[in-house]
Amino acid sequence: MIALSNYVAGAWTPGSGDAKPLYNPATEAVLGEVRPGGVDHAAALAYARQRGGPALQALSFAQRGALLKQLSKKLHEHRDELIEISASNGGNTRGDAKFDLDGATGTLAYYAALGAELGEHRHLVDGDGTQLGRTPRFWGQHILTTRPGVGVHINAFNFPAWGMGEKMACALLAGVPVIEKAGTPSALLAYRMAQIVVDSGILPEGAFQFVAGSVTGMLDLCGPMDMVAFTGSAVTAALIRGNRNLVARNVRVNLEADSINSAILGPDVEDGSDTFEQFLANLHVDMTQKAGQKCTAVRRIFVPAAMLATVAEGLVERLGGTRIGDPADDNVRMGPVASQEQLRDVRAGIQKLLAVADAVTGGVEPLGERGYFVRPTLLRAKDARAQVLHELEVFGPCATLIPYSGEVGEVVDLVNFGGGGLVASAYSDDRGFVESLVAGIAPWHGRIWLGSEKTHGQALGPGAVLPATIHGGPGRAGGGEELGGRRGLMPYLQRTALQGDRAVVGKAFGNEA
Ligand code: NAP
Repeated sequence: MIALSNYVAGAWTPGSGDAKPLYNPATEAVLGEVRPGGVDHAAALAYARQRGGPALQALSFAQRGALLKQLSKKLHEHRDELIEISASNGGNTRGDAKFDLDGATGTLAYYAALGAELGEHRHLVDGDGTQLGRTPRFWGQHILTTRPGVGVHINAFNFPAWGMGEKMACALLAGVPVIEKAGTPSALLAYRMAQIVVDSGILPEGAFQFVAGSVTGMLDLCGPMDMVAFTGSAVTAALIRGNRNLVARNVRVNLEADSINSAILGPDVEDGSDTFEQFLANLHVDMTQKAGQKCTAVRRIFVPAAMLATVAEGLVERLGGTRIGDPADDNVRMGPVASQEQLRDVRAGIQKLLAVADAVTGGVEPLGERGYFVRPTLLRAKDARAQVLHELEVFGPCATLIPYSGEVGEVVDLVNFGGGGLVASAYSDDRGFVESLVAGIAPWHGRIWLGSEKTHGQALGPGAVLPATIHGGPGRAGGGEELGGRRGLMPYLQRTALQGDRAVVGKAFGNEA
């Protein structure tokens, strides 16, 4: 059994306080433990600010990008070992584990390439310069410089690798040191990755620290140059947003919370068409990949009433063919949920939805004698406007079919009842329908994924977060934004308007030759 320690101020130190066991969710075997205390929060922040920050800020974007490239390679070298940990402490099939791990190394590699593109600079130019005085002599130019603070990154349990990788890629490329906090139930994977990062010696001292225990006290010590990036539930997001110190000192906070994501089938789509097959295939992946524990997974499936039975039949067939079990078996396609608490919450959530929906397949009955397994559960709404359908995230292999008339205005209203989402996916070959739908739902979403005959087989489904485009969403989804290429660096940079002699402002800081 492994007792997880914290890497703070240049040393691994044990946790203290009551131990929380880490399980193999397929067998319920105890694999390790995490203790919440033992972290000197002030020392961690000081070490990052005094050691890691200056060392990173002395490097150019290209040099920091080169470090990210090495990190990506180093973690990839340990891929098989990390896949095994992801299966044992996380319940991930090999496919699920690769999705998380390759997502992490791929995002690090993406930002490494962006660093090379940004070149040997230490600041970025933001937009074109502009004349501010009576003559072009007095010139204005916005620039972006690295904030001398710390990225305090609080990660959810469901993507221990990708969550840490995507946050640290952006911060480190911007020149900001990071303190990574792992979600407890799956912390073994993040812990092993942290060991690899530290042992590699790739990053300057103080650029990377790791906390397995609690960071709650650290939030009370953050200052105006720091950045807290959180991923997790809406309940914890609200606690962090309300932290008195963060509010009083105007500390930047980015929140990625849960989301009642939608898939919408257009009224033009016929059974057997490529668009329809794409719709069913993506729904099947979203419901079963990582046992439905993806913040981007579809929870609400909007279908024209006339197609409801056909969609239900197609999904039941696919879900029925999904082999569920211990991911140690290579033939298994869906593992358990990550923890006993998750199992309890998912079952309670399905039970609540069953008050307003009928079960098409699945349900809350236990599956097997051991392990935290949930039946893939497809529900059919009795009342499309029942509030709980649009408010409750069941973080497991569960989604609800919701009929609509086929009229775009109606489905726009229903989708937006979700109060703000990470991603909505729409499947249609009717351009008019798609244009009206996008116009209606875009303000409520961070991302819209459009499936059609032309895109069939061309790309990863809507559940995949890609570094070139943003991840996040308004309202319920936390109101945050991460990634999106160069946009991902913005939380760590300060935009400053420079006003003065064009020879200095435009030439030394702007793009003028
Ligand atoms: P969670 O319970 O909210 O925990 C998230 C993180 O916050 C964990 O590291 C947790 O540490 C930490 N934490 C808990 N209380 C805290 C506090 N008072 N102050 C500071 N940190 C605190 O969420 P989860 O169960 O790990 O993750 C599942 C949820 O995350 C789902 O609702 C899912 O939709 C959402 N999610 C969203 C995204 C997104 O990008 N929008 C991505 C993935 C998941 P401990 O584990 O030690 O408690």
